[in-house]
Amino acid sequence: MDNGSYEVFDGWRIQWNYARGPCKGGFRYHPAVTYDEVAALAGLMTWKCAVANLPYGGAKGGITCDPKKMSQRELERLTRRYIYMILPIIGPGRDVLAPDVNTNEQTMAWVVDTYSMLLGYSEGGITTGKPIELGGSATRLSATGKGVAYVTQKAIEQKQLIKPTIAIQGFGNVGSFTAKFLHEAGNRITAVSSLNGGIINPDGINISKLFEHTRESKPWSEFRNGEYISNLDDANRAILEAEVDVLIPAALENQITAENASRIAAPIIVEAANGPTTTAANEILNQNGIFVIPDILANAGGVIVSYFEWAIGAQTFLWTKEAVDKGLQNAILRAYHDVCELVNTHEIPMRMGAYMLAIHRTAEALRLRGFFP
Ligand code: NAD
Repeated sequence: MDNGSYEVFDGWRIQWNYARGPCKGGFRYHPAVTYDEVAALAGLMTWKCAVANLPYGGAKGGITCDPKKMSQRELERLTRRYIYMILPIIGPGRDVLAPDVNTNEQTMAWVVDTYSMLLGYSEGGITTGKPIELGGSATRLSATGKGVAYVTQKAIEQKQLIKPTIAIQGFGNVGSFTAKFLHEAGNRITAVSSLNGGIINPDGINISKLFEHTRESKPWSEFRNGEYISNLDDANRAILEAEVDVLIPAALENQITAENASRIAAPIIVEAANGPTTTAANEILNQNGIFVIPDILANAGGVIVSYFEWAIGAQTFLWTKEAVDKGLQNAILRAYHDVCELVNTHEIPMRMGAYMLAIHRTAEALRLRGFFP
């Protein structure tokens, strides 16, 4: 530590499955990180990559620490030590890392440097989510939101909704870009919430203005393009239970629960966040005939663009932003189409279809490879 003392931190890198290709997944720094959490997230990455048909398995990492109480120098030493400890099991063809909670572009720069210095040559393929200067993707920041917008737009077309209304819970990276792209496509975003409270405007919120307002760190109570709801509980309730065509939870896990699921009015839910619906709530939504696009499909845009960052790096050949965007659109809409085929054949919910597709693809890869040694 900066004061000369030593501290021991617990950390994990869990490779859940690599039948379909090198493992892929982020790593996080948080006091609540546990082995079980990291393992569950590694499983989720396996299914997400398989649904999107990326040539990857799934992994996740984490260190139990409180990064808010650590200096940049301490975080750098923690990161470099972590990479050194897991060096034998990672690599561009083994296991590719990425940012997650409390890890960012700077963390990934330390990963690239530590890995390259230990190997003796420059190797950016060890991680995605790098700074652009080190081979990162200019499209990565908005990729998850853009992917959510593509699948939402597809569902809107399928259900033949004209000028639909949309509510979005969370206005961080995923929520704000989802809102921006859906707004630009001509939809009405009528309700939005964040830790700042909620904004409601039945005529449609001016999202570019809210984007600007939020970027300038101005309080939402001063935003003049809709009714402001101050209390977080009231705002969440107003957004989650809003009379809209599409509800997009884009904040945290476990937001739609057995307690509120029966009050959800939106006929379409697009899970931009990871795990926003509890298992019990999922049953209620199914019984009520709500069309749910599950997280492993809806928010796969981030890992799809990460795959392009990795592939472009391996080719040492630059693609245009337009080519990456087209690749994202093709991959996520292809995944949506593949899931819909199973849904129509077996008359099952989208979540079941997405898991059937992912498990089938992974099991098929395992079957073909066989067991060795
Ligand atoms: P973020 O931290 O940028 O944004 C989270 C947003 O949620 C913030 O606007 C915050 O104010 C809001 N929020 C937090 N608690 C809330 C509450 N109780 N009520 C309402 N709003 C609340 O995070 P993010 O990167 O946008 O991630 C959001 C979700 O999407 C997470 O579940 C994450 O795992 C998932 N996800 C993110 C990515 C990615 O590329 N960033 C990819 C796949 C999945």
